[in-house]
Amino acid sequence: MNDESQKEKLRQHFARRVTTQARVVLDTWQKIHEDRAQAQAHRDSLLSATDKLVRYARRFEMDSHTGAGDHLLKLLTDWLPNTPLDDDQLKALEEATEALRHCTQRRSDQDDSTPQQFRRTPIYIALANDEVSSRMIRQLEFFGFRASAFNSHRDLMEACALSKPETILMDVNFGGEVSAGIATVEQLQEQHDTPIPIIFMSDEDGTIETRLRASRCGGEEFFYPAVDPGQLIEKIETYTHGNTVEPYKVLVLDDSRAQAKYMETVLKKAGMTAHIITDPMQIIHALEEFSPEIIILDMYMPGCTGMEIARVIRQQDRFHSVPIIYLSAEDDVSKQLHAMSLGGDDFLTKPIDPKHLIATLHNRGRRARSLLALMIRDSLTGLFNHTHTLHLLEQEIVRSRQKDQPLCFAMIDLDYFKKVNDTFGHPIGDRILRSLSMFLKQRLRKTDHIGRYGGEEFAIILPNTRPGDARNVVNEIRERFSELVQQAGDREFNVTFSCGIAAWQNDNSQSLCERADRALYVSKENGRNCVTLADD
Ligand code: GH3
Ligand code: MG
Ligand code: MG
Repeated sequence: MNDESQKEKLRQHFARRVTTQARVVLDTWQKIHEDRAQAQAHRDSLLSATDKLVRYARRFEMDSHTGAGDHLLKLLTDWLPNTPLDDDQLKALEEATEALRHCTQRRSDQDDSTPQQFRRTPIYIALANDEVSSRMIRQLEFFGFRASAFNSHRDLMEACALSKPETILMDVNFGGEVSAGIATVEQLQEQHDTPIPIIFMSDEDGTIETRLRASRCGGEEFFYPAVDPGQLIEKIETYTHGNTVEPYKVLVLDDSRAQAKYMETVLKKAGMTAHIITDPMQIIHALEEFSPEIIILDMYMPGCTGMEIARVIRQQDRFHSVPIIYLSAEDDVSKQLHAMSLGGDDFLTKPIDPKHLIATLHNRGRRARSLLALMIRDSLTGLFNHTHTLHLLEQEIVRSRQKDQPLCFAMIDLDYFKKVNDTFGHPIGDRILRSLSMFLKQRLRKTDHIGRYGGEEFAIILPNTRPGDARNVVNEIRERFSELVQQAGDREFNVTFSCGIAAWQNDNSQSLCERADRALYVSKENGRNCVTLADD
């Protein structure tokens, strides 16, 4: 091992120490919070834990932990021994611990042995071959799935009764007997109102009779012959990720406060995110701030009409295809038609039937999302495409300037990818691109934007992130990704990537990209599989 990578290993080791120490601090605070009568007893341990955190964080250049820890330390020093906390102090402490929690909860700050932020529901594996099962579990864990393997019918049934899995990977002949796996599933599904999606696989039996029976009991996939973990993980990803629909963001403009409030209640009840305005003059601001996916406009308002507002909205490229739904007591069909011709998509008459409203919003929202996806997403990976990534970068630059917050931009390029294609074939190359994209999605925060920048190049926008933290996060991902075993038939290999990160320095997006690109080039020059921070 050379000096540099030795140092890097050490640095990562210590980075984990910082996050572990942050958790000690948060746990101690939790104790105080739960039992204020005993607060004094924990004051000293909280103080010394925080002091230790700050020392570690400073030494290992973890800026956000240092900042949050420093602030907390200051508040704690003001808390004199043997004096109870007053309400202001308590509130300030709560905010400070919340800030610390925020930097500790980054999806990528892992503590040592359990690298992933696991998803809530497990995946069950019921295969004949134990070795295949445990390899499957290891691979799934890399992608943040929690998986358990079973080798008897009874154990599997018991586990399902305790906790319904997200999906089951099932051998058709699980347990040994012909079609015993299918029989188990048939029995299992009877116990659940909504069936568990099952991925069946078999090395022995691919007949139409078996496939039909499997499909009838909730078999979503049928692999014959059985496939390798890489292909399976992609399927599992679609069954587990596809189900979680983000709430629709709906903007409502209605001059009647009562009507607007009513809409807000209905939308929230239906699990949507509502933003309500009553003054038409706030529309531009609301569009910018909230970025709605659907807009509901009252037809008649003082000063202007909904149709006029719709026209203004449509004049902006970004909102050209956002569905607009009009709302009014108007029941004159010809007026409604006229309104629709001016850029509206639907017309709802007051009083509104909440069921009708929600159904309309779901339909419009779903269609708008799939149209939008075609425009802004890359079809191979589902990540944002090049154009949209740059658009997001520009937006984030504006936001960082307004909020006076840091911002980082990272460019990732797979190493020797041409050779991977040449050796294993283009389809395997494609699968690796998808696996890296899943990997990034899994490990970055929701507020980060991930794009496919070009062929085997990816870009990440990290809002409100300091350079040292960005480097830690991406480095951790790089390390983990390089450990991931890729498969092509029965051959196994590893793929690595190089990365360049630039911190925004009040420059424009073009210059930021160029600096990240140059840092990436330095990573390639330095032997690849590393992360370089641009220090201009
Ligand atoms: P380096 O470490 O210097 O980045 O080497 P490299 O081989 O990765 O770089 P190079 O730019 O020479 O080759 C990039 C390769 O990426 C060439 C192309 O075949 C492959 N590639 C680009 N887009 C795709 C894609 O969508 N699918 C697949 N399978 N391969 C792709
Ligand atoms: Mg390249
Ligand atoms: Mg490359």
